[in-house]
Amino acid sequence: MSRWPAPERVSTVTALRRRVAGWRARRLEVVLVPTMGALHEGHRRLIERGGGRNRRVVVSIFVNPAQFGPGEDFAAYPRPLAADIGVCRAAGAHLVFTPRVEEVYPEGFATTVRVAGLDRTLCGPHRPGHFDGVTTVVLKLLNMVGPDRLILGRKDAQQAVIVGRMIRDLDLPVRLEVAPTVRERDGLAMSSRNRYLSPEERRAAPALFAALREAQARIRAGEREAAAVIAAAGAVLAGQPLVRAQYLEIVDAVSLERVERLTGRVIVAVAAHVGRARLIDNVVVTVPGSGGGRRR
Ligand code: AMP
Repeated sequence: MSRWPAPERVSTVTALRRRVAGWRARRLEVVLVPTMGALHEGHRRLIERGGGRNRRVVVSIFVNPAQFGPGEDFAAYPRPLAADIGVCRAAGAHLVFTPRVEEVYPEGFATTVRVAGLDRTLCGPHRPGHFDGVTTVVLKLLNMVGPDRLILGRKDAQQAVIVGRMIRDLDLPVRLEVAPTVRERDGLAMSSRNRYLSPEERRAAPALFAALREAQARIRAGEREAAAVIAAAGAVLAGQPLVRAQYLEIVDAVSLERVERLTGRVIVAVAAHVGRARLIDNVVVTVPGSGGGRRR
C-alpha cells in the first residue's frame, strides 16, 4: 500500500484550474511534472523531487501528437493509465492531469511556438518539427497549470535547453529545474521506449551509455579534439551490432552548437535505433581546465 492518498485525476482545463486556484488561495507552491505516461523510476524521481512541505505536484500525462513525426511511434506509444496513476500515487503526486487530444488541440488550432536555432543539432535534424511540438505543448501546459516550478529530466537534454530558452525569451513566470538522468544498474537510461526492446536488444542497449562513458574518460584524460572523442565513443557503439547509431555529437551546453575544440561545458549526446526503439542518452561534461565550472 502506498503511504499517499490516491491523487485526484482531472481531464479538463476548467477542473484543473479550479483545483490549482484552491491551492493558490492557500499560498501553496505549485509544481508541474509533464510526462507522456508509461511512467518509470525516472519519472517517479521527478515527481518525488517536486514534493515537499507546502507544495502541490501536478503530473500531466499526455501523449502529444504534435511532437511525433510521420512514421514515428505515436499510435504504438504505451498508455498504461492505471499503472501510471499508481506511480503518481507512490511518488506523492497530488493531481494527475490527463487531457484528451481535443482538450489540448481544439478544432482550428493554429498556433506553434518555435525556439529558433537550437534544433539545428542533435535530434533536431532527425525529427523535423519535434521541438516545435514540445515547446508548444509545454507552453500550453504552463498556461493551463500556472506552476511556480517546472521539473524536466536531463535525459532529454536538448528539450530542457530549448524549454529553458523559451521560458527566458518569453518571460514566463516559472522556475525550471532539470533533474539528473535515472539509469538501470547497467547504465541504460530509463525510458518508456525501453519496453520495445527484446531481451537480446535490452542486453545491447547499455552500449549507448558505455559510449558516453568512453567519451567522458577521453575528455578527462586530456583529449580536446571533439573528432577524436567521437571516434573513440563511436568505436564502442560499433562493437554492438544491434545498436544502429543515428548520431553521436558534442555540443556546447548552452548554444547546442557543435564544437571542434572542447572547452567549457559540453553535452555529449547519442541517438540510436535498437530494434524498433529509438533511444537517446547524454552526459554533460565540464571540460577540465577551461573554467567551464561556472554556471552560465
Ligand atoms: P517523457 O514521458 O518521456 O516525455 O518524459 C517526461 C519527463 O521525464 C521529461 O522531462 C524527461 O526528460 C523525464 N525523464 C524521462 N526519462 C528519464 C530518466 N531516465 N531520468 C530522468 N528523467 C527522465
